[in-house]
Amino acid sequence: MSSPRYFRDVKQYIHVCSSNPPLDYLDHWIPLTPLEQMARTDYDVIIVGTGAGGGAVLWRLCDKWRKGGKRIAVIERGDLLLPTHAMNLPTLNYERMIRFVENPKFKQPITCHHTDLAIPLDFSQFFAFGGRTLYWGTGSPRFHPLDFQTWPFTYQELLPYYQIAERVMGVSQKFTQRSTIQQNLLRRLRTIGYVEATDFPLAIDHNFRKNGLHLSAVFSSINLFAHALNVGAFDLAVNARVVQVFTDKGTVVGVQVLTPSRKAYVIKGKIVVLAASTLENPHILLCSGIQDESIGRYLVNHSWAETEGRLEFVHSEREIGNMAILVPRTHRQRYQVEIHLDQPYEYAPNIYGEIGNRDLRISMRGFGAVEPRYTNRVSLSPNQVDEYGIPKLAVHFTFSERDLHVIQQMISSMENQACGIGIHLIAPPCLKPPGRESHESGTCRMGNNPHFSVTNQYGELHQVSNLFVADSSVLPYIGGTNPALTIVAVAIRTADYILHRLKN
Ligand SMILES: Cc1cc2nc3c(=O)[nH]c(=O)nc-3n(C[C@H](O)[C@H](O)[C@H](O)COP(=O)(O)OP(=O)(O)OC[C@H]3O[C@@H](n4cnc5c(N)ncnc54)[C@H](O)[C@@H]3O)c2cc1C
Repeated sequence: MSSPRYFRDVKQYIHVCSSNPPLDYLDHWIPLTPLEQMARTDYDVIIVGTGAGGGAVLWRLCDKWRKGGKRIAVIERGDLLLPTHAMNLPTLNYERMIRFVENPKFKQPITCHHTDLAIPLDFSQFFAFGGRTLYWGTGSPRFHPLDFQTWPFTYQELLPYYQIAERVMGVSQKFTQRSTIQQNLLRRLRTIGYVEATDFPLAIDHNFRKNGLHLSAVFSSINLFAHALNVGAFDLAVNARVVQVFTDKGTVVGVQVLTPSRKAYVIKGKIVVLAASTLENPHILLCSGIQDESIGRYLVNHSWAETEGRLEFVHSEREIGNMAILVPRTHRQRYQVEIHLDQPYEYAPNIYGEIGNRDLRISMRGFGAVEPRYTNRVSLSPNQVDEYGIPKLAVHFTFSERDLHVIQQMISSMENQACGIGIHLIAPPCLKPPGRESHESGTCRMGNNPHFSVTNQYGELHQVSNLFVADSSVLPYIGGTNPALTIVAVAIRTADYILHRLKN
């Protein structure tokens, strides 16, 4: 039977869409480039690592260059693990997130420790696309201006970069706004003398951006990669471990990469930016035979004391609200204290608006300043190699007398705060093993004097031209403040210097 006339003649009066061109399918949620292809390309910039520092450098370069013809390679040792910060995933609460990311498949302890402390060390490395920003706590205060005394530039010089970093990371104090419990406890803290106590600045973006919905409110470096992907261009390889940098007459020329099956590739680049973390950058530099006594030295971190308590909180509102309080480092105290509501899910109202539990569990966390000292360091293990055949890392760390004094002050201040605002502590604050806080910094520290630092103020090695470091390892001192915001700000400053260098 023939079709009705109006179907046969449809093209005469309706414009029919042309068929779609064949799709160049993606195998993953972010485009990847095979190492074979990378090895045939001459790159302008190679970025090693995709955490806070690597993501920030890539974001800035792509934002400025757009699709302007420069070639960028990004090389990541870990796999594609999560497409966003773990807290953006509905199935992961805090407890399940930690059980997932602490899996030894991604997080590897450093076994070779040397310390004269009574407590063991707990340094570890986490390998995945996104680095530790996949599950970091998002606490993002700026460093105190006094903490820049050992830096090659001042707080004022970093200020414009702090402002950029806060914008791109979505840092604000909105998380706790209109929260009954937050306002109440802040009032109590200020009354007993902690006048600087404030809403904790967190990297959680409260502005709706994508089609009216926000799909990645909690910041991770994957947000930076997303922007870079949309406005610029770069090649990304995962499961690709950089083990060495190559130099020629004092200038970097490329890197050596190993796959998990130990297949080796050489990737060539005019500029190399190491952003593989405080523990891994000196590992790569020491394996490359770069002669500089300061590489791996002046490891700094935080002393970390923690405790838990109960707070009876009588209130009339249906929701008590979020809680995240910061008692910041000041010119009087070389530590900060954080006060959080533990297990916030327990206090979320049910569909009738009822809250089951009024006896609130509160956790308190103190981070104390640690002095940068020559003897605190990472080195290559003389007799142990890892699964890639590369010498293992060894960490040497101990607290100084001054560090121990800060710890004592911090613990008594936490007890004083708890008592003053009505938190009944279950146990006195205890000191966590050094390394567990994951704030380690400083093994490739910046400085003006090449005898006491590895890079200049822009993160370029004193010893090797065009070889940059742009992550936690360049921070010479971190006071008592969470480091990630400063890592991102300093990395963007380094990226600006690289833009300037390549322009000339
Ligand atoms: C549970 C937790 C909570 C935290 N909370 C906070 C917080 O609230 N506030 C704060 O400021 N900080 C916090 N931090 C610390 C913060 O996450 C780190 O300071 C920050 O991520 C360090 O950035 P980075 O770029 O130096 O290293 P990373 O983010 O670890 O990135 C390093 C990257 O390099 C890759 N890599 C390593 N070796 C190689 C290699 N050889 N070749 C190629 N790639 C390699 C890694 O896989 C990773 O992607 C927290 C950390 C943890 C673990």
